Amino acid sequence: MAEQFDVVVIGAGPAGYHAAIRAAQLGLKTACIDAALGKDGKPALGGTCLRVGCVPSKALLDSSRQFWNMSHLFGDHGISFKDAKMDVEAMVGRKDKIVKQFTGGIAMLFKANKITPYYGYGQLQPGNIVKVKQHDGSEVELKGTNVVIAAGSDSIELPFAKFDNEYIVDNVGALDFTEVPKRLAVIGAGVIGLELGSVWKRLGAEVTILEALPDFLAAADAEVAKTAAKEFKKQGLDIRLGAKVSKTEIAGKGKKKEVIVSYTDSEGEKSLTVDKLLVAVGRKAATKGLLAEGTGVKVNERGQIEVDEHCHTGVDGVWAVGDCVRGPMLAHKGFEEGIAVAELIAGLPGHVNLDTVPWVIYTEPEIAWVGKTEQQLKAEGIPYKAGSFPFAAIARAVAMGEPAGFVKVLAHAETDRILGLHLVGVGVSELVHEGVITMEFNGSADDLARICHAHPTLSEAIHDAAMAVDKRAIHKAN
Ligand SMILES: Cc1cc2nc3c(=O)[nH]c(=O)nc-3n(C[C@H](O)[C@H](O)[C@H](O)COP(=O)(O)OP(=O)(O)OC[C@H]3O[C@@H](n4cnc5c(N)ncnc54)[C@H](O)[C@@H]3O)c2cc1C
Repeated sequence: MAEQFDVVVIGAGPAGYHAAIRAAQLGLKTACIDAALGKDGKPALGGTCLRVGCVPSKALLDSSRQFWNMSHLFGDHGISFKDAKMDVEAMVGRKDKIVKQFTGGIAMLFKANKITPYYGYGQLQPGNIVKVKQHDGSEVELKGTNVVIAAGSDSIELPFAKFDNEYIVDNVGALDFTEVPKRLAVIGAGVIGLELGSVWKRLGAEVTILEALPDFLAAADAEVAKTAAKEFKKQGLDIRLGAKVSKTEIAGKGKKKEVIVSYTDSEGEKSLTVDKLLVAVGRKAATKGLLAEGTGVKVNERGQIEVDEHCHTGVDGVWAVGDCVRGPMLAHKGFEEGIAVAELIAGLPGHVNLDTVPWVIYTEPEIAWVGKTEQQLKAEGIPYKAGSFPFAAIARAVAMGEPAGFVKVLAHAETDRILGLHLVGVGVSELVHEGVITMEFNGSADDLARICHAHPTLSEAIHDAAMAVDKRAIHKAN
């Protein structure tokens, strides 16, 4: 006999644990199933984000930034020191401690909210039954009046660069190198490639990023991408565009093996020999084996579960959220979908606005945006005005020794409504939310320009950029 729940959630990543906790808060009897194990072999809730994604990558980005600043920024402040050394084992150990704290935190939240966790692999059967193969080998069946699928995503593996988890790795391996690789190649100049490439570059690796597309960061505003590319080049990140990898080979004997990466660019065939290769070409929905025959849930050609704007699959009581459905593969997009679905199940008006999901790349400088880019507005024929302002003219940024980058506000030419906010520079992962909030309230560039911003702060760049939309920025010539 299947145990009955109001809500059964498959997957305890950002999307799943938000759905489970909000459902439980609303008084619904909730179970949440997750198959993942931590580095210690014990169940670890929190999904890709907490175990091998957002959180550990930011821990390493922060450690490596401190190390880089010691040798590149401290001198300007008059601080000198001898022989800065990086203890990679200690850095990775610190990261693991943070991961454990946060994955353990989800288990505590489940307990506090009386959510029943199941540790194992769940498969949806017809009739909203979820069959769970638990790690101890036993099997249980759960029946949900509602089932929320939050199975997340896995790294895409290239047929010619199979992961061996030692020389050819994905994000999981690149978060756990035991020493700084002398030479690291990265396939893919996307968010993960740039962030993890930056970590190891800052610690002293020679990093080459091979990107098949001819444009750098095509999803970002073109001016932002250009500024970021210039800064990355200054840091010594070797980003090769239009470089299509066709073959990889692990060569050498014993401990001293190398990876030979063959690729073609506009000049012809080339090859690169490195100590480690990180493949970061994107992620795919983790839906393989998730659905038994006859559930009625549809999966598209990309492996994503088909849903409507409310994350409903079209099958009575079956919903899907997060990376396993359409939309940006971002933790916070999953958070909001999880909450919205729980609220819809409880009869409340749940809602997610995919047009105001912020994007952040946690490199140095950081890159962030919300809304449409200039190239999108042009392609869609939307009339717009742009105002931008450089961090080099912001006293706080200069005092911090971080003058690179700028803020750009895009507003509708007739209504002045904000259509996009694009930032590259220090602290922009936080600043972008001014754009998110203004856009959610249908605010205008004039609204932002008339809101008092504290001095001296980085946020003044947004204030002046909003004023620049109407050529009235105070701290630059318009
Ligand atoms: C290196 C890296 C850095 C990232 N950095 C950021 C960042 O800074 N900001 C950001 O917003 N996003 C970031 N992301 C993306 C982010 O991690 C994902 O968007 C987010 O984790 C998706 O959440 P989710 O709940 O949909 O899926 P996941 O986090 O993938 O969780 C799904 C969970 O479901 C479990 N599961 C799957 N199938 C089953 C099954 N059948 N039975 C039981 N359990 C199952 C999995 O084990 C997993 O624990 C990063 C990703 C990576 C790889």
